[in-house]
Amino acid sequence: MSELETLIQLLARLPGLGPRSARRAALHLIKRRESLLEPLAAAMAKAAAAIRPCPLCGNLDTAAPCAVCRDPERDGRMICVVEDLADLWAIERSGAFRGRYHVLGGTLSALDGVGPEDLTIDRLIARAEPGQELILALNATVEGQTTAHYLADRLAGSGVRLSRLAQGVPIGGELDYLDDGTLRAALNARRAL
Ligand SMILES: [Zn+2]
Repeated sequence: MSELETLIQLLARLPGLGPRSARRAALHLIKRRESLLEPLAAAMAKAAAAIRPCPLCGNLDTAAPCAVCRDPERDGRMICVVEDLADLWAIERSGAFRGRYHVLGGTLSALDGVGPEDLTIDRLIARAEPGQELILALNATVEGQTTAHYLADRLAGSGVRLSRLAQGVPIGGELDYLDDGTLRAALNARRAL
């Protein structure tokens, strides 16, 4: 296979890119050899050599433990538990949380054969301390909720406090457009004014 074919095939494996857009991306890269292709290749080689998952929380960084785990300004009494790194980044972007994180690496799923040993659950149980709060920021899916229940079972009686994200009406959301499940969750989680 030619170098160009290899490049196109690898690009086509990226999320959101099919064979057609991979061809277009490859052409774009080759036309901009000095300004794009070579710097990109160098950045990818550097990233591949330097970036590692944090042994404590699963975040990606060039240092171990990661910058979040090392930051003394962060509140160590709160650990936000997320399914994957994209969720951690989303919460960081919001700027709303100044505690630490734990990336599970997925959710429990009998259907897909994902058990507790496939996730970083044991590591989470080992690092959680009495008095700490674990905020389960898991997706509102069957698998997310199964995982939350499993964690609650494993941590029962440990002195670790568990909470989860509220479910309900999104900011700027119109009631008429909400699905029944969201509306029901919002009603159940109503608060006094
Ligand atoms: Zn970390």
